[in-house]
Amino acid sequence: MISPSVPVDETNRLFALYSLRILGTDPEPVYDNIAALARQIYKVPFAGISFVDQHEVWLKTSDTSGLVEIARAQSLCGHGILSDNATIINDILADGLSPDNPGVSGMNVGGSGIRAYCGVPIHAPTGHRVGMLCLVDVVPRSFCESELQPLKLMAATVEELLVRHNNVMPACYIDSLTGLPANLALTDQISLSLARARSGKHRVSLLRINIDNFRFVNSSIGRAAGDRLIRSVGQRLRPCVGQNHMVFKEPGDNFYVLCQSVSDAALTMLANELAAKIAVPFFEDGNTLELSASIGIASADSGGITAGELMNMAEAALQDAKRRGRDVVCFFDNPEEDGQPQQFEIYSDLKKALGNHEFELCYQPTIETESGRILAMEALLRWNHPRLGLMYPADFIDLAETTGLIVAIGEWVLHEACARAQSWRQDGMQAFVVSVNMSAVQFNRGDICQTISHALTHSGLPANYLEVELTESVLVSGNDMTRETIKDLKQMGVRLAIDDYGTGYSDLSCLRNVQFDKIKIDQSSIRKLGADKENFVIVKTIKRMADSLGIEVVAEGVETEEELSALKELGISEVQGYLLARPAAREVCKKLISAYLARTLPDNRVMPKTGVGCANEQLQVSACHDSTSGSTKA
Ligand code: C2E
Ligand code: MG
Ligand code: MG
Repeated sequence: MISPSVPVDETNRLFALYSLRILGTDPEPVYDNIAALARQIYKVPFAGISFVDQHEVWLKTSDTSGLVEIARAQSLCGHGILSDNATIINDILADGLSPDNPGVSGMNVGGSGIRAYCGVPIHAPTGHRVGMLCLVDVVPRSFCESELQPLKLMAATVEELLVRHNNVMPACYIDSLTGLPANLALTDQISLSLARARSGKHRVSLLRINIDNFRFVNSSIGRAAGDRLIRSVGQRLRPCVGQNHMVFKEPGDNFYVLCQSVSDAALTMLANELAAKIAVPFFEDGNTLELSASIGIASADSGGITAGELMNMAEAALQDAKRRGRDVVCFFDNPEEDGQPQQFEIYSDLKKALGNHEFELCYQPTIETESGRILAMEALLRWNHPRLGLMYPADFIDLAETTGLIVAIGEWVLHEACARAQSWRQDGMQAFVVSVNMSAVQFNRGDICQTISHALTHSGLPANYLEVELTESVLVSGNDMTRETIKDLKQMGVRLAIDDYGTGYSDLSCLRNVQFDKIKIDQSSIRKLGADKENFVIVKTIKRMADSLGIEVVAEGVETEEELSALKELGISEVQGYLLARPAAREVCKKLISAYLARTLPDNRVMPKTGVGCANEQLQVSACHDSTSGSTKA
């Protein structure tokens, strides 16, 4: 049998099919009933509703009689969708269709080869022929067009059902600017491809394309012209990927290409080709504009991951490309990083780390230099990797954030830190708060109040002994929900600190709008504070502003005496840094806290704030500031 040809508008046809969200769904009685009716009316052993996908034909009926999934190249339905007319083959053998073709004889109905086929096309609401309502017999038949009216009516009913069952708005599927599939179409399609990959048939790869510096293009030529450029980019990409892959558009200047069964070498070629298409100059309003794109590529060889995870992997690869200077193609599982653990390996290890109890928390105090009291113990995450040894947040937090694993890890951190703080309190060391770093990903999920509330209830720690450290990015990227969450946390009594202040946007208005208890000035502003005039002015300004708002100020990353005395000059006495104490394992913290309390501050239990000594991570007692002399002692 000759393989069916591919319709001219195949990409849109497939898109129309995927938009129905019918592929991969279970059989349903309503479709079965239509097929049963067709069987009875036309007296055939098999009647089915089929959908013609890129490579396969899917059947949406429970009585499939061995016709579960057929290769499109060998299918009669693949031929059927090429015409709006009914496809009638009364005797396959007489029609010259080879009997040894699996589409004809290999798949049989009730043990016999197919001899006769009659089908009418099923249309998507876009008008594309996406499948067939077909009749199959094992003996020659004499179907004729004039008796097919009931079959056509039944096909029309199927079309109606498809629309009714699929009550998703087209806007969720089509990008209005480029007309490309978008949004749900992308996740649906990735999920479907991954489901096939799981059954070992395909490798699924996702290319994430982002135009470099597009916001500058937008701000220099205007949004309308920017939109025209994005539309042109879409038009250039589409023919470039051909019929084998699909292009999707996501908000802004983001595109995806989904590929199946493509090697890394071919993916690199494709990505370079796409980048070259984007690099061809655009002419806009008499100006010549040259764009470049960064591309991240992620592949799943055997399924086992979700659409969201594959998208996150492609996003991580894209961020890698951006970090490498843009106009670059990067693989998630980068083969260039020879000898280094590959990101994908770390990702799969990270997935298992919680279950394997590989995380632990270290604690680093914030000390009030005047009194030597501990004001807070900050929980800092460590990963005891079974092969790679001790890993610091810089090695894995980004990956945990882009893949969403941070949510579960962050929850563990909260529970562990609250439990530790409560156990210290129960041992009589109750005058400091425990602070926990919170990623924007955790915070923006909307259920963080619940998570925190669980951790507090579970541990018994009073809310005002927990401090949550947020970075400015949470506030800048935040929306009404973020503000609500912050309000709720305040109402619960949890303390809020803004971490790494001075590294991001340093948006003063966000401090006014949100009731923070504490600002932690990032170590980059503290560095060489005595000698660096610029840093001195920055820190002075932050301190003044915080004082006017009644917010505590902590200097992070203090390493030298010089920095410490500059801070004193600025009136900042709350300090965190290696000079005073390195992060220490919890057992060491406990020993040192209690030893220090017993030695120096016997009345600590009734004091609101408690001064203690501290240790570094190598379990050595580090320098501890002496409040009376203003010097440090070992
Ligand atoms: P951070 O919250 O600003 O924590 C302070 C970091 O600075 C810690 O690094 C600490 O070891 C380091 N540090 C403290 N004093 C000094 C100093 O005097 N000099 C220098 N050079 N560094 C100092 P660490 O533990 O590697 O953590 C890095 C970052 O990772 C943290 O920055 C925080 O943003 C993030 N992180 C740590 N634990 C967690 C966690 O449980 N969840 C989340 N989402 N992020 C975490
Ligand atoms: Mg912090
Ligand atoms: Mg910090």
